[in-house]
Amino acid sequence: MSANRFGWAQLSSHGWRVRLFLATLTTALMLSDDFVQQLFTSANLAQLEAEYLVTLWVINVLLWWTGKRWFANAVVGLFAAMQIVQLSHIAMTGTPLAPYDIGKLAATYNEIGLALSDSFIDHSYVMVSWALPWDLCVWVFNRYLTDTSRASWVPLLLVVLILGSKPERATRRDMIAFMPGPTRSSLHNSINSFSFYATRMLGRESELVAPSLLDYEVRPIIQPDAAPDNIVLIIADSLRPDRMQINGYHRATTPYLQSLATANELQFVQGLAASVATGASLPLLMNVVREPGHLSMLKNATANLFRRAKEAGYKTTWLSTQESKVLHGLGAQYIDTVRTLEDDLILIQRYGDDRLLHWLHEMQWGDKNFVVLLSRSVHSPYDDNYQHLGNASDWWPDDGNLPLEYRLNNAYDNALMNFDRLLKDKITSLKDTLPGKTVVILTSDHGQMLGESNRWGHNRLYPAVASVPIVVHQWYATRSYQRTYPLPDADVMSHYELGRWLLKLMQFELINPQYVPDIHYFQGEAIYQDNLYRRLIETESGVSFCQAGLVSDYVPHVCELALSDTINLP
Ligand SMILES: [Zn+2]
Repeated sequence: MSANRFGWAQLSSHGWRVRLFLATLTTALMLSDDFVQQLFTSANLAQLEAEYLVTLWVINVLLWWTGKRWFANAVVGLFAAMQIVQLSHIAMTGTPLAPYDIGKLAATYNEIGLALSDSFIDHSYVMVSWALPWDLCVWVFNRYLTDTSRASWVPLLLVVLILGSKPERATRRDMIAFMPGPTRSSLHNSINSFSFYATRMLGRESELVAPSLLDYEVRPIIQPDAAPDNIVLIIADSLRPDRMQINGYHRATTPYLQSLATANELQFVQGLAASVATGASLPLLMNVVREPGHLSMLKNATANLFRRAKEAGYKTTWLSTQESKVLHGLGAQYIDTVRTLEDDLILIQRYGDDRLLHWLHEMQWGDKNFVVLLSRSVHSPYDDNYQHLGNASDWWPDDGNLPLEYRLNNAYDNALMNFDRLLKDKITSLKDTLPGKTVVILTSDHGQMLGESNRWGHNRLYPAVASVPIVVHQWYATRSYQRTYPLPDADVMSHYELGRWLLKLMQFELINPQYVPDIHYFQGEAIYQDNLYRRLIETESGVSFCQAGLVSDYVPHVCELALSDTINLP
């Protein structure tokens, strides 16, 4: 096969350089709408991201290589069309477009048109931030891309393959994997959201008929003891309470926490996760939402912890070794400092949560701080989280020729022991650097199954997945403090109750007309759609699980008990 088949071979080295320059220019133009929008609004949080930048540059090189103007126009037109919707959505709602938003756009086309024309002056900059880069981009392609009949179809096919990989992936993954990351390039978010929408949702809209629930109210309160100066919420993804030494596990998986417990500085409570998956559990926890299908409380940030923390004068910080998309629905616009996987991709892949610690040392704290750390230390694959530390003698055996269940369970315990080591470093570092009184709370987004009854993972509404730890480290603790801010329930505490208690620490009272003590909810991962959920009933001896139901059939106070499903208290 002659090199000429690939189109660029006949180019002189000068021609090569010109096209690489043009490809770099159009890449920059495609990325620039976010930064133009950022001149006008703080709602757009996009940052540059090396890996994505390279991908987009490769697409642009291929577009220039095709020698087909119509094709370049089609791709740029597609990108631009998605971006006008995306940038308008960011301007109107403060958040990037999620797949389920696109369905609503089509359904409420008239309303949105009205809203846009109503506030056109306020949002007219959207047109500037969209039209300027994309018009220029179209112009550059049409001015300098010459149609060559000898051009090859290879680069064209490559572009189709790269762009087509997203919709293809959407057939295999759920919506959570396609959620936009508020700090990611909005074109990248658009490609994800539209791919998922086109593949999985278009033409089968089933608008959730949400149950009629009353909205919450949040009121400032004055308490006899001043608010803590710092509130640190550590969320360890997939952390199981029954594997923690402080909760009676026979292995020494949490020696540091054990030492705090021995010194009477820890309070351990059986927690109940809001949902089965990170992408659903965190929005429910951070927006302090209890009932399934309570979309208005999920979306309008009434009780959002970042928002209320800011109102109470806290500097807000989110540090996570997970992806930016996890931030979707958490109120990213209320967070002062955000660091995610994308900020430090290569080192996080290598050193895992050790990077979190590194970030902690670099932080500029405020006088008061609300800090949320999302850790991946005990997330699957477990051995990845401690591999970089080499073979320590105190690891439980986890090598490849051991039986799978045995190996994975050992790896989980090793990962937890490593997490405990990191926790010690983190808390020590925080103690040294944070001013004033600090409360540290440790919980998990959901539990994890490790082969019990042959069940693995966490995407099901099982008791083992609902079971999470809630650990409060009270180095602030004076007795009067504990009287002012007692944990709402010393036996079993839901994520919702934890959120309500955090609001109380920030001097707010959450009033929820639907609240019934000892009734909790555990939801599937599709919290923005018609979702499965289970009602949980707290008793003296533990927690009983009702049968699962659909949100569209939500009936308060009805429970058909699933007798074999319980969480027993010691
Ligand atoms: Zn998770």
